Amino acid sequence: MADWPANSAGGGVDRPERSRRLRVMLPLPLPEPLDYLTRDGAPLPEPGSFVRVELGPRRLVGVVWEGEGGEVPVERLKPVLELLPTPPLRAELRMVLRMAMSVEEALLPPAPRRVCAITPAGLEAVGAEEAGAKLTPARRRVLDALRDSASCSAAELARRAGCTAGVVRGLLAAGFVTEQLVSAEPPREAMPDWDPAGPSLSSDQEMAARRILDQIDTGGFSVTVLDGVTGSGKTETYFAAIAAALKAGRQVLVLLPEIALGAQWLTRFRRRFGANAAEWHSEVSQAARRDTWRAVAAGRARIVVGARSALFLPFPELGLIVVDEEHDPSYKQEDGVCYQARDMAVLRASLAAIPIVLVSATPSLETTVNVARGRYQRVHLPRRHAMASLPRIDLVDMRRERLESGRFLSPPLAAAMRETLAAGEQGLLFLNRRGYAPLTLCRACGHRFQCPNCTSWLVEHRFTRRLICHHCGYAAPIPAICPECLAAGTLVPCGPGVERLNEEVAALFPEARIALMVSDLLTGPRAAAELADAMVERRYDVLIGTQIVAKGHHFPMLTLVGVVDADLGLIGGDLRAAERTYQLLHQVAGRAGRAERPGRVLIQTYMPEQPVMQALAAGDRDGFLAAEAAARRGAGLPPFGRLAALVVSAHDAEAADFAARALARAAPQLPGMTVLGPAPAPLAILRGRHRRRFLVKAERGVSLQAALRDWLGRVRVAGSVRVQVDIDPYSFL
Ligand code: ADP
Ligand code: ZN
Repeated sequence: MADWPANSAGGGVDRPERSRRLRVMLPLPLPEPLDYLTRDGAPLPEPGSFVRVELGPRRLVGVVWEGEGGEVPVERLKPVLELLPTPPLRAELRMVLRMAMSVEEALLPPAPRRVCAITPAGLEAVGAEEAGAKLTPARRRVLDALRDSASCSAAELARRAGCTAGVVRGLLAAGFVTEQLVSAEPPREAMPDWDPAGPSLSSDQEMAARRILDQIDTGGFSVTVLDGVTGSGKTETYFAAIAAALKAGRQVLVLLPEIALGAQWLTRFRRRFGANAAEWHSEVSQAARRDTWRAVAAGRARIVVGARSALFLPFPELGLIVVDEEHDPSYKQEDGVCYQARDMAVLRASLAAIPIVLVSATPSLETTVNVARGRYQRVHLPRRHAMASLPRIDLVDMRRERLESGRFLSPPLAAAMRETLAAGEQGLLFLNRRGYAPLTLCRACGHRFQCPNCTSWLVEHRFTRRLICHHCGYAAPIPAICPECLAAGTLVPCGPGVERLNEEVAALFPEARIALMVSDLLTGPRAAAELADAMVERRYDVLIGTQIVAKGHHFPMLTLVGVVDADLGLIGGDLRAAERTYQLLHQVAGRAGRAERPGRVLIQTYMPEQPVMQALAAGDRDGFLAAEAAARRGAGLPPFGRLAALVVSAHDAEAADFAARALARAAPQLPGMTVLGPAPAPLAILRGRHRRRFLVKAERGVSLQAALRDWLGRVRVAGSVRVQVDIDPYSFL
């Protein structure tokens, strides 16, 4: 969520020596905003205000930045020339500005590097030694290293030769080695063939690809929804579009929701095009990101695959954007600046006047509505590729199953797994819960382990032997005795986590080779890709995992999918709960039977009568979406109405309540707008902050942002209170 700039008066403003100092971000490749002073007697302009300032001989327009400024003495600072009569740039736009410039070192060309090379005299010395002349062994190793491999720095050379830097210096002095300056900017390489023969497309795929290719040919902005069942060849189809865009000399951006998918995607891309795509996400090193940023800006990188922040890369020749798994909730960024990357991608495509393709087997309701309104065009792949058919989906009514306590696999699911393993096929068990058990309690006194910072239970993780809070990351070792009653050996786990499920499966099927795919047990995207490869190579029989198993994977021998607790996502007041449950479970189900052997899916639920479960079993996606849309239209919820969440938080509960009451008194009373709350947030305490929530509902015509700004502008809250605003929230905790 974004911190609202409003009146949360930052510290320092009252201090006299600080009172005139402000920071201004200028449209120049500078790593930081520069310090200026306010004009005599003028109040401090609020962050986001536009000001005109002097820099050397130039006059520039800049944006007032938050923060207190640096160490330059006040006497040396210049006053702002003019405050421009324009509304301030909003917090989220300032964040975008910052993100676009975030790889600050990338804005400057890399300094040329000094590299060593062997001289003719050096070569002669090596030759002469072979003829019997003298060279120390260390010198000999250095010259050999230079002769045999690519040029490198003096330090690297010493390392390669296993000698001190002094030896290299001696050789430089003797004229056997020389240092040269080379540009560190890699040259623009010859382009690979972007049009290798891909697989021949089926007629559905061909038709879908044709529609997208037409958009690329025609040029201009368009949104195409590539809607196809799992395994129908959506990726293959948009690869054809990518090939066309690349061949036309344009750059391409592909967004993926999960970096774990990146490695598999890159491999597939390399196989198809014989070239690498550039990768962009938080796990790419700072140095590599800097290189990619420059390569994109210089047009050397033709295709980038990445997470949502790749949207802010400076493509000069962007010709196509693809958003894969467009419905995925992780496209909604909720830390720092709030934005919906899918919607932002559509915006970028419209600004650049280029086509964008939104890809999904379960398009979001927003996208579905945009198709219905005729804003987006839809192309459809109704069938799985080749022989594969869609799996059969059955519900297991858990109210009827008798399970021993501590067991989570129903007899029908266990039986199906047994058959699957007997047939030499693979099974997948999906449980969206990391750790061993979501709650630990003491059998003797009933004590439950709660996070000291949040309103949430601590989750036991057996592999790491810790109790962990999944909200704030608090972790503590599992105690040997109950901290409340001091009894020993009385702690019992309650409920299932993937680690516990692992034990159950191992006990039921001792022969089976089981793999766990969970983010906290994998060391990164590569590890996830390796595990996926091992599944394809059938080095495992059963895969147990959280939502990271749901997406993208293609395991030809996987024929059974068991959803252990389908109801998990339906708990909580999330307006998208049913939609997301449908998407997630449909996606997991889509892992089954992707090749010749037919798949089956068993969904364990205590709520089989829920429309979402019925729709899953009947494969009636469009009916489900239509019912969802009708319900949301009736309630005036997104995308038919607008929604914002306001969270007031403070370390002190009273301060939070006080501010919440002040906000409630000043709440806007506008036609078409309703303010609900304040109420304690479901996560009433998070990271030690007490949280109160407002929910603001507005009709589509109402300017929600303006109303919120006006509201918050009228209320002064203490500096210790934070007010966060999330427009169209995805999280309702
Ligand atoms: P989706 O993205 O819809 O899940 P994919 O593009 O991953 O589907 O296709 C599923 C599988 O079928 C992949 O292994 C893919 O290589 C294969 N496939 C899809 N279309 C074709 C085609 N026209 N020719 C050959 N193989 C194909
Ligand atoms: Zn916590």
